[in-house]
Amino acid sequence: MTPERRPAIVGNWKLWGTRAQAADYCDRLLTLLPDERRRPAAVGICAPFTALDLCVERLSGSGVGVYAQNMHQEEMGAFTGEVSAAMLTEIGVDGAVLGHSERRQYFGETDRALQEKVPAALAAGLRPILCVGETEDEREAGETERKLRHQVQEGLEKVEGERLAEVTIAYEPIWAIGTGKVATPEIAQEAIAFVRALVGDRSREAAEAIRVLYGGSVKPDNAEEILAQPDVDGALVGGASLDPEAFARIVASASP
Ligand code: PEP
Repeated sequence: MTPERRPAIVGNWKLWGTRAQAADYCDRLLTLLPDERRRPAAVGICAPFTALDLCVERLSGSGVGVYAQNMHQEEMGAFTGEVSAAMLTEIGVDGAVLGHSERRQYFGETDRALQEKVPAALAAGLRPILCVGETEDEREAGETERKLRHQVQEGLEKVEGERLAEVTIAYEPIWAIGTGKVATPEIAQEAIAFVRALVGDRSREAAEAIRVLYGGSVKPDNAEEILAQPDVDGALVGGASLDPEAFARIVASASP
């Protein structure tokens, strides 16, 4: 595994985390994680916009990255309610999750917008985590590869070849998100190897170096076998990340 592919475990709080809750969480997490140099994985949390600055401050110097859960592609304009990349970097945020299936499903996030968001994040110095994944119907209809091909190609289309490896991709089968129905390690491995091969169509070096995470009902008791798969470079964790103890146990399951 290349150094870029040191595993990453990223917690997505979704719609959770008042500033008071976020402060308690960060303090608790830091007592549970080993020192940065002894951590088997890079660690990040995706907090709501209103708690990002607080998380940056609380986690400063700990090596735990702070990510937004969305970002607009434009620098400014008539986009009420949106937040730009510069607004995130100004407060010290490290990256942004882009194209989460909940944003695609409930808030009209499109592949076309992601085509702009991913390079806009990179240009601003943010680490993008691009989420892709198929629905249950698509999997049953044998459409998984077609869906992943479309999402990966569109999302990366405007990223220059030499910056491709700076993107993290999260393969999150929609049928496994928040359902308790985790993909088998074989399904996760197969889909993630396919995602990596799609990156390889653009650049063999980038395919070797890019991190591809699995997401979908990862818990402390199923993390180890998923994270042990050769192409799985970590996990994007939703529900289980709300409990700092469970989240720290998932981090401990990663093999460096
Ligand atoms: C997610 O929010 O990206 C996710 C994978 O959620 P959960 O772990 O709850 O399935």
